[in-house]
Amino acid sequence: MAIAKRAPAELAKQTFEYAPAPESIDHVKIEPRYGLFIGGKMVAPHSKKRFPTINPATEQKLSEVVEADEVDVDHAVKAADKAFEEWSQLTPSRRARYIFRLSRIIQERARELAVVETMDGGKPIKESRDVDIPLAAAHFFYYAGWADKLEWAFANRKPRPLGVAGQVIPWNFPLLMLAWKIAPALAAGNTVVLKPAETTPLSALLFADICMQAELPPGVVNIVTGGGKTGSLVVTHPAVKKVAFTGSTEVGKLIARALAGTGKRLTLELGGKAANIVFDDAPLDAAVEGIVNGIYFNQGHVCCAGSRLLVQESIAEPLLEKLKLRLGTLRLGDPLDKNTDIGAINSKAQLEKIEELVESGVEEGAEIYQPECKLPERGYWFPPTLFTNVSQSYRIAREEIFGPVLSVLTFRTPAEAVEKANNTPYGLSAGVWTDKGSRILWMAERMRAGVVWANTFNRFDPTSPFGGYKESGFGREGGRHGLMPYLELV
Ligand code: NAP
Ligand code: MG
Repeated sequence: MAIAKRAPAELAKQTFEYAPAPESIDHVKIEPRYGLFIGGKMVAPHSKKRFPTINPATEQKLSEVVEADEVDVDHAVKAADKAFEEWSQLTPSRRARYIFRLSRIIQERARELAVVETMDGGKPIKESRDVDIPLAAAHFFYYAGWADKLEWAFANRKPRPLGVAGQVIPWNFPLLMLAWKIAPALAAGNTVVLKPAETTPLSALLFADICMQAELPPGVVNIVTGGGKTGSLVVTHPAVKKVAFTGSTEVGKLIARALAGTGKRLTLELGGKAANIVFDDAPLDAAVEGIVNGIYFNQGHVCCAGSRLLVQESIAEPLLEKLKLRLGTLRLGDPLDKNTDIGAINSKAQLEKIEELVESGVEEGAEIYQPECKLPERGYWFPPTLFTNVSQSYRIAREEIFGPVLSVLTFRTPAEAVEKANNTPYGLSAGVWTDKGSRILWMAERMRAGVVWANTFNRFDPTSPFGGYKESGFGREGGRHGLMPYLELV
């Protein structure tokens, strides 16, 4: 029997109509209003100000949270300071037991956490279910293992905890960033005051409930909600000994200035504009998957997103053809649907920022490609977007867009690839696609990026340190290195 040959474009369109497969939300209880988690319980705030957190896919209000003021933050820091006396003196194996307990409860309540994360932030349920929540649990597991081995982690040094850690996190991976912050701090014997982002406070408040369930000693973890002002109160509080911040380079610089000369320890995990580099000997189909995962995962709200694709000139044409076909198969829509690839943009403000930058790309002369894609009427959405004809000077090649937008540039030689990859004020991550191991090592040695992925992208593991060069910040999270910012080594 003869098999009719179809054009690739036609084949790609041959996607099945999927029936809706929404994750159920009956098992999730979101309170209409929340207090603050201070001293081991939810307390009524001093501040009278509250603000709503919404579901960006529907614009519906989910709950109201407190905008913590100076008195509230002081209350939280004092609770953490008081708890530090006992927590830091606790037998390390007992400390480990509490942290193990936190990770076990995260696993037990994974479905609930995944749904809340998706509703509050707009990310596809398959990502919160398969990436965010399991990685958050893995992070607690990993650092629980270190809690009673600190003296072996740093040979001939005596590790001592610092005191209260003030931690401020962004909205793109709310629970995972919380885990990156809280797990190493607790394992090292510190106590914490954490402020989640304004648009995604709910998983942190659910984590407060998990701390209570784990019977974590009161005050070891405190959670204060609020906006930038609350964040600034946390990091500048005089009793906070160590500040850990993840967010934009702009706010990172403000914090670095505010903390200069105070003697507080500081780590900053900031923005990025990573190069994902594809050589002509790379397996193209695998590279296409890596490119898609690099920039369209979590709607591109990823600090280490592969937002600049550098492709070797000789394969640019076939690679882009494959990539465009693949974009046409991505499903955009209800984040709670298990088949959704691209969810909602986290907030109206972020959507406007993406739109403005994309417009600048068109104006500066780049060629835009967007697959046919129907956007839901309510909520905040942006289709997967690809720009060709991009010059290095364009804003879309220089600035962090933090959305599902890829800028494609080409190169001829490995040296040119390195030069273009490093031509950015950032330095968080990079990707290299090639068949040659020696070339991977050659490239990795020359790129000024904290992480270099080889023939993969956006892979995370709690054992592996993560952090930036240049304006992407300093300090490492994850691995043994991730303990150091929380310890004094005497
Ligand atoms: P952002 O505006 O810097 O906010 C981050 C956090 O800081 C939020 O909780 C924010 O509160 C708070 N904040 C704002 N102003 C503050 C101030 N003056 N003092 C103290 N805290 C303040 O960043 P974003 O837009 O939420 O997050 C996106 C950025 O984070 C991107 O640039 C991305 O690259 C970066 N990021 C980096 C990493 C990494 O590991 N390197 C990971 C994830 C994200 P509000 O929510 O109320 O604004
Ligand atoms: Mg929200």
